Amino acid sequence: MTVNTVPAGNAAPAPRPASRGGRAGAGGRPRGEGQWALGHREPLNPNERSKKDDNPLNVRARIETIYAHRGFDSIDPADLRGRFRWFGLYTQRRPGIDGGRTAILEPEELDDKYFMLRIRSDGGQLNLAQLRTIASISTRFGRDTADITDRQNIQLHWIRVEDVPQIWQELEAVGLSTTEACGDTPRVVLGSPIAGVAESEVLDPTEAITEITAKFVGDPTLSNLPRKFKTSISWLPDTPYEANDVSFVGVIHPEHGPGFDLWVGGGLSTNPMLAQRLGVWVPLHEVVDVWHGVIQIFRDYGYRRLRTRARLKFLVADWGVAKFREILETEYLKRALIDGPSPDLPEKPIDHIGVHKQWDGKYFVGAAPLAGRSSGTQLTAVADLAERHGSDRVRLTPYQKLIVLDIAEADTEAVVRGLRDVGLEARPSSWRRSTMACTGIEFCKLAIVETKARAAELVEHLEAKVAELDADISIHLNGCPNACARTQVADIGLKGMLVRDDASGDMVEGFQIHLGGGLGMAAGQNAGFGRKLRGLKTTAAELPAYVERVTNHYLAGRSSGE
Ligand code: SF4
Repeated sequence: MTVNTVPAGNAAPAPRPASRGGRAGAGGRPRGEGQWALGHREPLNPNERSKKDDNPLNVRARIETIYAHRGFDSIDPADLRGRFRWFGLYTQRRPGIDGGRTAILEPEELDDKYFMLRIRSDGGQLNLAQLRTIASISTRFGRDTADITDRQNIQLHWIRVEDVPQIWQELEAVGLSTTEACGDTPRVVLGSPIAGVAESEVLDPTEAITEITAKFVGDPTLSNLPRKFKTSISWLPDTPYEANDVSFVGVIHPEHGPGFDLWVGGGLSTNPMLAQRLGVWVPLHEVVDVWHGVIQIFRDYGYRRLRTRARLKFLVADWGVAKFREILETEYLKRALIDGPSPDLPEKPIDHIGVHKQWDGKYFVGAAPLAGRSSGTQLTAVADLAERHGSDRVRLTPYQKLIVLDIAEADTEAVVRGLRDVGLEARPSSWRRSTMACTGIEFCKLAIVETKARAAELVEHLEAKVAELDADISIHLNGCPNACARTQVADIGLKGMLVRDDASGDMVEGFQIHLGGGLGMAAGQNAGFGRKLRGLKTTAAELPAYVERVTNHYLAGRSSGE
C-alpha cells in the first residue's frame, strides 16, 4: 500500500561528540534521550518508529490515490492516528462520549469517521479569495464549521476523507495549504496581525515568514522533528512570543538599527515554560537563517525518548541559554551573533479590537467572534463586507479575533455595523473581548470537558450580571491539561477536569482554576504563570457564578490604579 515519495527516516546529521547534552544515567553513562546528534537513531517509542518507518509526508499520496477512493475504513491506523497530522488532519471525537471515558477508551472507540482539518494561515494573513475559498469549503464540506484558533489558523470539522483531495485542490489554487498544520513539524508561523500596516511598526518581517513557509514547510529534512515546533516572528510584541519554541521580537539596536530579539524554549501544556532571550540581535535578512539553525538544533538535539519531554523547552532548560547560543553559533551558523538589547514589551496582550489607523491613512477594524467560533457563512459575509468597502485583506489574530484591513475613514462605522450584523463585535464587552476557548469535547479526542459552549454561556452571564469593566480580565477555557488555549497565562485560566459535585456526589465536568497569569507582561517584570490554586475547582455549571464572585471580589478589593 505504501506510495513512497520521500525517503523514510530523513536526512540525518552525523553523530556529534557525546558531551553535548544527554542526561547521565546509571554509572554516569549518558542515559540517552533519543537525541539524533548523539547517535541515538533507534526509535525509542511508537511515534518515533512510525516516523522512521515512513516519512509522514508520504501519506498525502496515499490519501489521494487510495483512501479518498476507498473511504475511511481503508485507512491504515498508523496513517490515521499519526501521519495524517502532517497534512492538518485529525480524526474528531465521536459525538456523545463523555469526558470520563476519554482516558479509558481505545483510540478507535474515540474516533469519529470525520476529520478536523487545520488550514495554515502563516502570519494570519488572508486575502478575500482565500477567505472565500475557506468559507465555501466550510459550508460545502464542513457543515459550516470554521473556528479561528489562537495560532491564527482556521479549523474546519466534519471533513470526510473522500473530499480531502478536492479541498486541497481548491485551497492550493488560492495559495493556501494544510501541509504541516499539525504533526512533529514547523507549524504555522505567528506574525503580527497588523504587519505591514501598523503605524508603530519599524520593520515588517512578512518576507521572512513567507520565505520560511516557502522553503521549509514540506521540506523532508524538517518533517521528522521530536515534536511540534512553534514560531513567532513579529515586529510588534502582539503575539504570545513567550509561548513559542522560537520567537523574533522587534527591537532597535543602538548601533545596528532595527532588527529582532531572539527568544527560544517557550511552551505551555503540562510543563509550562516561558521562552528565554538569547540576548542576540538578528537583522531581518538573517532571520530565516537563524530560524533554520534553531529548528535544526531541535531536530538534532531534541529529546525523542518521551513525548512529554520532546519539546525544545526541555533542551533549553537543561542547556541554559548560554550553551544554546554557543551551539547555534558554532555548529549551525558558523559565526557569532551580535549581542542585542531587550525589546520594549507591553504590560498586557494587544488584541487589535476596534477601529485603528494604519500608517497609510486607512483604517483597520478588529472584531471578536465568541471564543473563536465562526462559520463559513459568517466568513463569506465578512468577505462580502470587506469587498463592498474596497478591502482585499483580512487578518486572524492569536487571540481568536478577525481584522479587516484597508478601510477608508468614512467607511469605518459602516464596517463596524456590518460586522455586528454577522455576529462579530468590534466594540465587545470586556468579557467577549478577553475570553478564549480551545476546541474542547465537541470535537477533540483528548478533551475532558466542553469549552466553546461553556465560554458562550459564561460571557453571556457576565455581560448580564457584572458591570462593564475598566480593565480586561482574560479568561481562557481549556478542555484538558494540554492548554491549547493557554491556561497558565490568563487572568483566570481554566483547566478542564472532572470534579465532584457537592450536591449529587457525582463526578461532573469542571475546571481547575489558575489565577493571575498574563503574557505580554515581561515589561513590567510580571511575566509568569497563573497560580494554580491547589484544591480550587469549580463545576462547569457553577463557573459563571464563580467568575462573577471572583470579579466582584477583585473590583471591591483592588488598589488604586490596579
Ligand atoms: Fe483538546 Fe485539550 Fe487542546 Fe483543548 S486543550 S484542544 S481539549 S488537547
